[in-house]
Amino acid sequence: MYDMSTRERALALVAQGRSLNSVSKETGVSRAAIRAWQTRIEPLPRMQGHVPPCVRCAPAPGLPTDEAAYSYLLGLYLGDGCISPGMRSGFYLRIACADAYPGLIDACAAALTAINPVKKSYRVQAVGYVSVVGYSRHWPCLFPQHGPGKKHNRKIALEPWQQEIVDAYPWEFIRGLIHSDGCRITNWTTRVIGGERKRYKYPRYFFTNKSEDVRRLYTDTLDKLGVAWKQANQHNISVARKEAVALMDLHVGPKH
Ligand SMILES: [Zn+2]
Repeated sequence: MYDMSTRERALALVAQGRSLNSVSKETGVSRAAIRAWQTRIEPLPRMQGHVPPCVRCAPAPGLPTDEAAYSYLLGLYLGDGCISPGMRSGFYLRIACADAYPGLIDACAAALTAINPVKKSYRVQAVGYVSVVGYSRHWPCLFPQHGPGKKHNRKIALEPWQQEIVDAYPWEFIRGLIHSDGCRITNWTTRVIGGERKRYKYPRYFFTNKSEDVRRLYTDTLDKLGVAWKQANQHNISVARKEAVALMDLHVGPKH
């Protein structure tokens, strides 16, 4: 009756906190249909018994089983993700990924599906980017950095169990941060050697984030990995030394 893009657009608007009435008016989708879609995405409380329990709020809290996926997703979340309340005491975790990098969108969706206790994610197309979205009551258990306001206006510190995972999978964490708030760029320069003008390229990595805490998590992890970095400007960290860029190329590489 309604095509997939209409459905996704309507759900994305609802996820932004809009009322069913206004979304219905804007998209032409009936409120009953929107409600039915939400029910399918958001398990009702009485169905929660069938959902595997979250590892963090279990009687004996443990670590997510796929720690590598968690470390990557944590990097994505701290860089550019957001958690917002949905209905029925659940939350949306949303990661925005530029259309230009389909491989990154797939990697993000795979990690989000692996970490979501209900093992689900979906994609919402917007202008120029795709939001990879997962719905769960447990996102704040899994990402306790969730809180009101912008990340750069509040203290961001990892809990000991998160630090344990980042220490075990540091490159996944770095890759997540670069995939959300970083880039690899190539500068060119020429030099005259033996009377001949030669062209050289200087690849480097940048990571830009307004939160000093998030930048420190990035640079602390680079320090542990032996990757040299420099503060390029107020919000920007540069990795430019040849051997440091080689390490980043081996483990992170350009976005794709
Ligand atoms: Zn939980």
